[in-house]
Amino acid sequence: MSIRQKVLSKIKSVALDKIDSPKKVSDYFGENTFNLETMRKHISKTTFAAFKAWMSEGKTISLSQANEIADAMKEWAISKGATYYTHWFQPMTGLTAEKHDSFISFVEPGKVIEKFSGNKLIQGEPDASSFPSGGIRATFEARGYTAWDPSSPAFIIESLLGKTLCIPTIFISYHGEALDKKLPLLRSDEALNKAALGLLKLFGHQNVKKVFSTCGAEQEYFLIDKNYYNLRQDLVMTGRTLIGASSPKGQQLEDQYFGTIKERVINFMFEVAQEAYKLGIPVMTRHNEVAPHQYEFAPIFEESNIACDHNQLLMELMKKVALRHNLVCLLHEKPFNGINGSGKHLNWSLSDDQGNNLLNPGETPEENLQFLAILVAVLRAVYLHADLLRASVAMAGNEHRLGANEAPPAIISVFLGEQLTQILNMFENGVKSKVAKQDIIDLGIGRLPRFNKDMTDRNRTSPFAFTGSKFEFRAVGSSQNISTSITIINTIIAENLEYVTNQIKTVKGTGKDFNSEVLKVISNIVKETKDIRFEGNNYAEEWIKEAKIRNLPNVAATYEALEAFTVGKNIALFEKYKVFSKEELIARYHIWIHMYNLTLEIEANTLKEMVNASVVPAGYKYEKLLAGNLRELVELEKGAELEVDPAALEDKKAHLSDVVAKIYYVRRNTNEMDKLLEKAKERSNEQRAELYFKELKPLMEHIRKHVDALECVVSDDTWDLPKYREMLFIK
Ligand code: ADP
Ligand code: MG
Repeated sequence: MSIRQKVLSKIKSVALDKIDSPKKVSDYFGENTFNLETMRKHISKTTFAAFKAWMSEGKTISLSQANEIADAMKEWAISKGATYYTHWFQPMTGLTAEKHDSFISFVEPGKVIEKFSGNKLIQGEPDASSFPSGGIRATFEARGYTAWDPSSPAFIIESLLGKTLCIPTIFISYHGEALDKKLPLLRSDEALNKAALGLLKLFGHQNVKKVFSTCGAEQEYFLIDKNYYNLRQDLVMTGRTLIGASSPKGQQLEDQYFGTIKERVINFMFEVAQEAYKLGIPVMTRHNEVAPHQYEFAPIFEESNIACDHNQLLMELMKKVALRHNLVCLLHEKPFNGINGSGKHLNWSLSDDQGNNLLNPGETPEENLQFLAILVAVLRAVYLHADLLRASVAMAGNEHRLGANEAPPAIISVFLGEQLTQILNMFENGVKSKVAKQDIIDLGIGRLPRFNKDMTDRNRTSPFAFTGSKFEFRAVGSSQNISTSITIINTIIAENLEYVTNQIKTVKGTGKDFNSEVLKVISNIVKETKDIRFEGNNYAEEWIKEAKIRNLPNVAATYEALEAFTVGKNIALFEKYKVFSKEELIARYHIWIHMYNLTLEIEANTLKEMVNASVVPAGYKYEKLLAGNLRELVELEKGAELEVDPAALEDKKAHLSDVVAKIYYVRRNTNEMDKLLEKAKERSNEQRAELYFKELKPLMEHIRKHVDALECVVSDDTWDLPKYREMLFIK
């Protein structure tokens, strides 16, 4: 029996301890967060007012006020059982990082008290030398600072034997450069705020004080039994299967999507939700996804900054809770070949402090006009900066999805739905008589079409789709930190809100009619950006051709996509809106290229070991079986003990030769791969990434093809690696 077969027998029995789940979510939602309400109860009125002014108007608080908040936070955390605290931050690896310190402090030798001061709240100094900085910070001046991000509430993480207070922070260098993913996001929200306020003023909203982006990230993932996971080096090392023959049944029957959720999985989902609610993460929807064993969690949307922290936390929670259920949560973009990979639809919109969603078409023509002005700003942003959107989702894992007919293609386009398309076409062609009278609202001077409230068209293949009251950026990878995409969306839209504002300003006060002038501006942008709109099937061959004619970028390779961060016009854009300095941007380019290379090297080396230590030995075992079998038959025949049909003997020989040949191909290509990895060592990071994309990846696919063919012929009890048909189906 193979190890795999032994494990199979274990999998049926997973006993779960019953979890006492609190019944009513509203009774415990956010109980482990130091949110505004909790803060208000624990600090003085004046400090609370100062804190709120800080949040809404940016007036920083004094050190004594920070001390008061720190003290309140500490008291609250200790009363809940926390003994450690950590500054929690998001370095450029896309993960989260934490360095824990105890609350204790000596008051006299041998005697400690719990102490936590405003200084420690506001600033920390983790040894930063091991975090990637992309050359911003030489290792000899390794200092990196974490600084409190008060806009995201502190929270307590519970483990079996203790609790830790986590304080969301940004991570900066000695000179203030962003070493993380969070600070640029905060800066981009500020740019967006300024630009949007400018536009709203023109439309007469003097009372709006703040505009911010909102996000909801739909998180896809796979679950597999932990026993299988442990037997697959590739999953453990790389998060995806590097080899493995497809299961005869995959997703072709479409019997998984929205299907009944299996008992074992639903228990996992219940526990994740319960843990998420304690942390104030509003997970809302859960369902089966398209591929077998693939699922999704979607939250209620929140302010981007918070949504980002919550998505990071949710991913951590999912991984942690899965283990308690003897499952492993796979967040990789492409864990299995031949079935769908996982992404993260990033729903994005704009809200003002009066509670209005600025991407909601309004009730009145004037409101609709404002909506259209914002809509065309989005169109122009995507039209001008498709390269940056693509770059924001460029990473090794996502490279398997984009362009692979399952996720949106690498070509970025915008889907608006039938109704909006009709309306925009009218702008382009003029309002024709074909349009029914009731569909046109006469503004007196200009004519604006009427809107239906329901604009819920769906086009699942579009990378940037308007879905009624928000845009959905569908190219983000499932394991990615969403902040880079948000940062880029915010910045490019800020630029174009400002553009629209300036266009309108030139006509304001000239005595011309405001509404019809705005319509003209909108109409011009509609024409300018026509090429970015696409309503058809993004997976179709024709679209690839059409996009080429339209000159839309179609970049499949990560290394090429990332180059957008080094282009002059993009650097100028980010510098203008103070989101990234040139150095910060270039640093990110280097880090992400480097991470791509490291990922591929880990994959290649893992594949090599699996081939040499597992696949080939299994092949040899079977080869030996066949060879022995053949020899015995020949001997029996020689001794006239057995009569063998010559054709049957030939068949046996052919079978053996086939297995020998398969093993040979596997080994030959693996040796090739070895040489290629050696060759790569002499290259620069950029050249290496190119080599990996153009040569290493195809070679790995080639090896896989032969390994998978071998898997399908060698006897089941020599194959130790769990098979697709087992990992994806057996509970
Ligand atoms: P879908 O459009 O994918 O069918 P939903 O309409 O339920 O599904 O929304 C999906 C996600 O979009 C949810 O996470 C939801 O919170 C989020 N969302 C809805 N409205 C907004 C908004 N104004 N801003 C950002 N995200 C939003
Ligand atoms: Mg969606």
